Amino acid sequence: MLTPRRAGAALALVAVVAATPLAAQQHPRPKRPAPARHAAPKIPTPKSILGFDPGDDRKLPDWPALVRYFRALAEASDRVDYRELGKSTLGAPFIAVVISSPQNLKRLGRFRDLNARLADPRTLSTNREAEDALRDGRTVVLLTSGVHSDEVGGSLSPVALAYRLATDTSAATRAILDNVILWLVPAVNPDGVSIVTHWYNRTLGTGAEGTSPPELYHHYAGHDLNRDWYAFTQVESQIVADSLYDVWHPQIVMDLHQQGPNGSRLFLPPYLDPIEPNVDPLLVDGDNALGSAMAWDLAGLGRTGVAINALYDAWTPSRAFAHYHGAVRILCEAASADLASPVDIPFDQLSAGARGFNPRERSWNFPQPWPGGRWTIRDIVGYQTDAAYAMLQHAAANRSEWLSNFLSVGWRGVRGWRGWPYAYVIPKQQDSIALATLFAVLHHGGVEIRTATQGFGAGGSRYPAGTYVVSLRQPYAAFAKTLLEPQVYPDRRQYPGGPPERPYDVTANTLPLLLGVTANPIDDPGHLQLSAPIPPPRAKPGYPGFGPGVAPRVAVYRSYDATMDEGWTRWVFDTWKVPYLSIVDSTVRAGGLKARFDVIVLPDQSPHALLEGLPGRYPAPFAGGLGTAGVDALRQFVQEGGTLVALNDASRFLIQTLLLPVRNVLEGVPDDEFYAPGSIFRMELDTSAAEAHGMPPKSIAWYEGGPAFDVLDSTQVRVIGRYPTDPGALLLSGWVLHPERVAGRAALVEVKVGQGRAILFGFRPQYRGQSVASYPLLFNSLQIR
Ligand SMILES: [Zn+2]
Repeated sequence: MLTPRRAGAALALVAVVAATPLAAQQHPRPKRPAPARHAAPKIPTPKSILGFDPGDDRKLPDWPALVRYFRALAEASDRVDYRELGKSTLGAPFIAVVISSPQNLKRLGRFRDLNARLADPRTLSTNREAEDALRDGRTVVLLTSGVHSDEVGGSLSPVALAYRLATDTSAATRAILDNVILWLVPAVNPDGVSIVTHWYNRTLGTGAEGTSPPELYHHYAGHDLNRDWYAFTQVESQIVADSLYDVWHPQIVMDLHQQGPNGSRLFLPPYLDPIEPNVDPLLVDGDNALGSAMAWDLAGLGRTGVAINALYDAWTPSRAFAHYHGAVRILCEAASADLASPVDIPFDQLSAGARGFNPRERSWNFPQPWPGGRWTIRDIVGYQTDAAYAMLQHAAANRSEWLSNFLSVGWRGVRGWRGWPYAYVIPKQQDSIALATLFAVLHHGGVEIRTATQGFGAGGSRYPAGTYVVSLRQPYAAFAKTLLEPQVYPDRRQYPGGPPERPYDVTANTLPLLLGVTANPIDDPGHLQLSAPIPPPRAKPGYPGFGPGVAPRVAVYRSYDATMDEGWTRWVFDTWKVPYLSIVDSTVRAGGLKARFDVIVLPDQSPHALLEGLPGRYPAPFAGGLGTAGVDALRQFVQEGGTLVALNDASRFLIQTLLLPVRNVLEGVPDDEFYAPGSIFRMELDTSAAEAHGMPPKSIAWYEGGPAFDVLDSTQVRVIGRYPTDPGALLLSGWVLHPERVAGRAALVEVKVGQGRAILFGFRPQYRGQSVASYPLLFNSLQIR
């Protein structure tokens, strides 16, 4: 349980402020200039720039067209300002628009400063200052869209919403503009808008119409781009954190997404359990209240099929940065069509197996089922836009609650929670790249890093002056704590004694384990002298052996059935300056690989997807995978002395196709007999092996549905990494059921094949660009000659 530690002066201040009568907190309604009747017609309609109305069947904009629209809208409307915040991974403009009343837009700097003070209550020295900030502030809302580019309503709904807010003269819209400052990010992944739209237009009218593009829609992260909200590996997430969250400190963050076609028409919070325990309960109440209120508004508009408290939990911080920064997070998931092509969904094809509700039955969290029928891009845009508008109405009508609760969350962070450590101490003498990675994450998250100005003792250890200290008495302490501590995921079952209940994402996020850094929690040592916050130390990633003239010739297999793990592999190699070439099916099938490459990396992908690739409805050269010709070419490559490196599930592909003398002990094992959906395991290494060169004998493995190995022929197979024989010692963070299934089994093996070798990873050594501790195993594997 999270309980405030003590009621000090800080709490008293909040109490005084909260007790101020509501009426007294209302900002006197600013005098509005006479309505500019002639101005409205000048506002460009979406159609005048995009060439179609948002919601027209089979019409999608590319990114340059959307940029043109938002620029033109801002030029014409005194309610809209346009900002370019940076460049995307592939160099496109990353934009945001801010929408509010013309009076508010003229004084944006003042509102930013007021809100920053509410975000960090240590800057409020008197009750009066707090009252002023609460009275004069505006609710700050961040609305993000298009992080998943094939959820194409996300490209169009921001246009429809912005146009409505720029032109509507109703009292409701005026209340929104007066009380809310809306930061709208029309695409968190600008590159993907064009990737999907170009593919869609190219395949319109063909058998591939409505399919996903045969490449990742984010150059490195693909769909995982919205799993990057604590690691901040990608420039897009860095821009949103640094330019919006850390400057504007929104009270509400709404993110537009789409789900599968056969469930609810729209999902809104409350989330399902489990809620990650460091999330302030006041924010959970806020999720529940706002999501429910939005669902109520949508029902009033005649929108059916809206589900709350379904499918989505709130465990991983990788998708929920807002929850650690004082903001309520509204995940909004509309049902999909086939990109912008309509679909027909008979009622009896709605999925009865949906989690938390049944789309064919009325229930408290799904009071009005959708009758089934045609579902189009116009429906998606309509639901998303109405939901966003409902959110804004709530943000406007309840401005004082939003601001005072936001201040309370900040105070509770500064004061600290009962049962939390006082701080984490991080010794200075550690791997500089790992330390820099950790501190960059905390810095993007607004966490202050300090150093001890004198030596001190805590928890039975002595720490010298200069030791890094991350206090858990600061506004964003919860972000630091959840990333620094091991996760204990609750043992949740579908029914008592039944199979595990699948979490929405992974269950572990402990950065010290992933990075191989020591960070120790301490109680208050009483007289700890700390520096002012310091800038995070920096270090340039790099690994020996990849310089010009000495680097191995590395190929990374790139399936047209694009996998995120392939993208992450490229990101890690690009970031750590490991040279490589991407190779596609035709290159592999053509054979002669040994003449061109020393090593071929097969990223995590199922044996079936590697072999078969995309289905036949895709045009050449995208349909079909490696096929038997590809398998033959890989066999020849390794026979002739090449090294094949297989990651996670791709190891099963090599075991099966090359008939390796290794058995996957988890082959066909059901979830209730072994389960670990993204957890950090302990792994013991044979450090005399070249693959483990420079590694400590005890390290970590990011385990996520991969194989674990039994050796069938020890003359051919060398075990490099092994899980501990004590099942109780396996799990370091997250969740595992029946650890005895893998205890003592091999996690990383080298198999001799002809003149060459296959190196099989049963885990993900470069997990989402985070598991720096196990990178050397991958880098070393590329260098074995
Ligand atoms: Zn999505």
